[in-house]
Amino acid sequence: MRTALSVEDVSYAYGSRTALDGVSFEVGAGRFCALLGPNGAGKSTLFALLTRLLVTRRGRIAVAGHDMARAPRAALSKIGVIFQQSTLDLDMSVARNMSYFAALHGLSGRDAERRIDAALDRLDMAERAGEKVRALNGGHRRRMEIARALVHEPEVLLLDEPTVGLDTAARLAITGHVHDLAEGGLTVFWATHLVDEIRPADDVVVLHRGRVLARETAGSLAGASSLTDAFMAITAAGAPPSVERAP
Ligand code: ADP
Repeated sequence: MRTALSVEDVSYAYGSRTALDGVSFEVGAGRFCALLGPNGAGKSTLFALLTRLLVTRRGRIAVAGHDMARAPRAALSKIGVIFQQSTLDLDMSVARNMSYFAALHGLSGRDAERRIDAALDRLDMAERAGEKVRALNGGHRRRMEIARALVHEPEVLLLDEPTVGLDTAARLAITGHVHDLAEGGLTVFWATHLVDEIRPADDVVVLHRGRVLARETAGSLAGASSLTDAFMAITAAGAPPSVERAP
């Protein structure tokens, strides 16, 4: 399987505080890969490095074969990103938000329209195109943001805890839509601390205190127990000795 996202021995520190320590993993093209880790694991730091909000000289990141340090433009052009915080203009319509974003990527006219229609369609949002974003509920806003991240036809979709603050029905709809995108060939890298968003066939990278503790499919990680139990056992075993000895 072709590698869509490659992270090789990446480390990052905020001053003397190590946030990522020799992180390595690969995500195959068309795979849904969950980055699973508790708060403080380093998920947001890794996302910032993958989107070049932060840079590091320790390690190597490549997207669709493009090296993030040597060919950042080529690498970034292959990424679609959904950050935790929404970046939508609430007073513009869904369609205007989409065409504004398309223009930022140098897309306009028929080509932009075609891509916008296709992206909204993939998220079941086509009939909302004329509505102001302010009129949409939280789940539909998120779906629109995902559609927007597809307009420049990226190969890898990065989502940083995309269901935070949504109700159960909206969470289910979004995890379902994004799994469908992966089935359609898109590579998905989805940060979460919620195991119920992950399906047995998905790949999982378990990150804890800046280190990768496991990297396999969710089904094999869970084994005979549940993914929650497996995750708790792995992260407890990966804690420093002083914590392990605590009563
Ligand atoms: P997560 O997204 O998994 O909750 P983060 O990447 O936000 O993890 O944080 C990883 C570690 O880096 C934590 O120990 C956190 O306190 C620290 N950290 C994150 N951002 C900063 C910052 N701007 N300055 C100093 N430390 C930070």
